[in-house]
Amino acid sequence: MFSLSGRNAVVTGAASGIGAAIARRFYAAGARVLAADIAPAGPVDWPGDYRRTDVTDAAQVAALLDDAITRYGSLDILVNNAGIAVTGDIANIGSDAAERMFRINTMGVLYGMREAATRMGSGGAIVNLASIAATVGIPGLVEYSMGKAAVLQATKVAALDLGARNIRVNAICPGVIVTPLSVNADAPLVALAPHISALGRAGEPEEVAALAHFLASSDASYVTGQAMFVDGGWNIGLTMQEIVAGLGAAGPA
Ligand code: NAD
Repeated sequence: MFSLSGRNAVVTGAASGIGAAIARRFYAAGARVLAADIAPAGPVDWPGDYRRTDVTDAAQVAALLDDAITRYGSLDILVNNAGIAVTGDIANIGSDAAERMFRINTMGVLYGMREAATRMGSGGAIVNLASIAATVGIPGLVEYSMGKAAVLQATKVAALDLGARNIRVNAICPGVIVTPLSVNADAPLVALAPHISALGRAGEPEEVAALAHFLASSDASYVTGQAMFVDGGWNIGLTMQEIVAGLGAAGPA
């Protein structure tokens, strides 16, 4: 079950965090994996292949996918994972930072899907990394949320466009996952994770990789166009801790 034996995969943003965990998990499941990142090298002790790629450059994305086909003979799985997080409330958005984030988090996904669409034959799986911020409003994440919401909608439309060729397109919405991205850009959310998620803790990259593994595998053969949450239950509602803390702040009824 969930075997990726004989499957050929590309994972972007694979030098760190969730992308590295996905690349390692796919490799362990038998896939040939071309890891890609803007960083000069792949994750530590990475046993698979690596190609330096900036996902904001469509030509580099196309060359990355061509490279996978040259090495392995086909492209079966693409994970559009590369992303950054810049925080700031609506009154303090820097134009350059916002546009840079949109080019990586949103255009990078669009380029990946477009270039994969012309290179995957009949049958394939695309997994896009969105975020809980695509559907749940989180103060200080307006630009990030906007770009991730666009990824969700693009995932649905691409699933419709590519379904007839049996190319499945799904999105993953992580909650707070302990990676350099969350620790550096969103330390307050990491500290809040034990209080705001039903499971009472932040998640690990491997827990996101497990869902990516399922979605990439033929076990998910009838799943497409979906946004799936790996968030410890954050999106389902307030925890009792949040309710009690909120009541405490408001004073006794
Ligand atoms: P991370 O910082 O650990 O890894 C992101 C990787 O993307 C880095 O290796 C970075 O070099 C790479 N990258 C950045 N710009 C790039 C570019 N232009 N081209 C190619 N690679 C580039 O972050 P992570 O937490 O593992 O995030 C992975 C994905 O998950 C992102 O899309 C992020 O938005 C999403 N996500 C993360 C969390 C979380 O809590 N960590 C929550 C929700 C969604």
